[in-house]
Amino acid sequence: MSSLSPLSSPAPLVAPWPPPARARAIVPVFLTFRGCPARCIFCAQDIQTGGNPQAAGTHGDAPDRILDKARLALDLRAARGLPPAELAFYGGTFTALPPAEREACLDFAATALARGRISAFRCSTRPDCLDRSILSRLRQAGCTVVELGVQSFADTALKAARRGYDGAKALRACALVRASGLRLGVQLLPGMPGVSPEIFLADVARALEAGADMLRFYPCLVLAGTGLASLWQAGNYTPWDMESTLDSLARGWLLARAAHTPVIRMGLAPEASLAGAILAGPVHPALGARVMGRALLATVRNLAARAPGGRSPQRLEAPRACQGYFWGHANELRPAWAALGLDPDHVRYTRDAVLRLWL
Ligand code: SF4
Repeated sequence: MSSLSPLSSPAPLVAPWPPPARARAIVPVFLTFRGCPARCIFCAQDIQTGGNPQAAGTHGDAPDRILDKARLALDLRAARGLPPAELAFYGGTFTALPPAEREACLDFAATALARGRISAFRCSTRPDCLDRSILSRLRQAGCTVVELGVQSFADTALKAARRGYDGAKALRACALVRASGLRLGVQLLPGMPGVSPEIFLADVARALEAGADMLRFYPCLVLAGTGLASLWQAGNYTPWDMESTLDSLARGWLLARAAHTPVIRMGLAPEASLAGAILAGPVHPALGARVMGRALLATVRNLAARAPGGRSPQRLEAPRACQGYFWGHANELRPAWAALGLDPDHVRYTRDAVLRLWL
């Protein structure tokens, strides 16, 4: 640690850097492709969820069997003395399930809530498969969050990815969820056909304006067996490279943080079944940490840019919680920090949730 130089400013420049909210335990119930009006060109839910040992439901299971597995998973948690988790119906289009299946799921969740087996439940669906009465039924059954697989609000991108709805429909769906009193999650797919980094950042801004309570960023991957794989093989689709992805996600994450909206997931969960199916695209096991490292660096760069008289950074205090990603994966950000004048001797970790930059 260097001492303050005689030219150092007496008061540091400060930016908040609060720790992310603790993730809640989730028991996912994968209703793989159930209720989906068509199979989307990028989607391989059967591969994405096939290897998750925590999950209830694999592709081809009947709904009864899926719920039996979910019951077993919840009973096992209770037998182990674990606190009630949140149940999540993922992997299909929940609100477009055949009514009997949807009711069976809602009854299951309502009973689990009443028995204290779960603390809450949520579901995911498409923006074009919602109406007031379904949302009202979800709320009445005790659902708290609806996650919308919006992917993008840009009409050109939605058309290029053949999503079957436009941006106005996606915005209306967000408004319906909010108006129903449910919390709104918005899933975005940076790199989907037609989505440039600029469009992705505009999507984040629109999701925040639409009242999203939480976001997920899933950089688009080319997965075997999908329509996107055919497009890619024919040379008609190019995924984002890793640098564009990391930079865009960091900027999107900072926009969300400025709005106090958590990004609860970046990148697909690294299932064993998924790894062998990825043909192309920006995939990395530490994607989230790499994004956070870039977001932190950008924040300190912005602080340094406010330096009066062009003074150089002398030292930085950062929350201990960011120690794991500060220098980037395998120290990839060390040169960028060095260019700012900060190396490990000039950085100290503290318990505070703020960044302090001395000049
Ligand atoms: S993206 Fe959603 S709606 Fe499309 S096939 Fe996958 S689960 Fe179904």
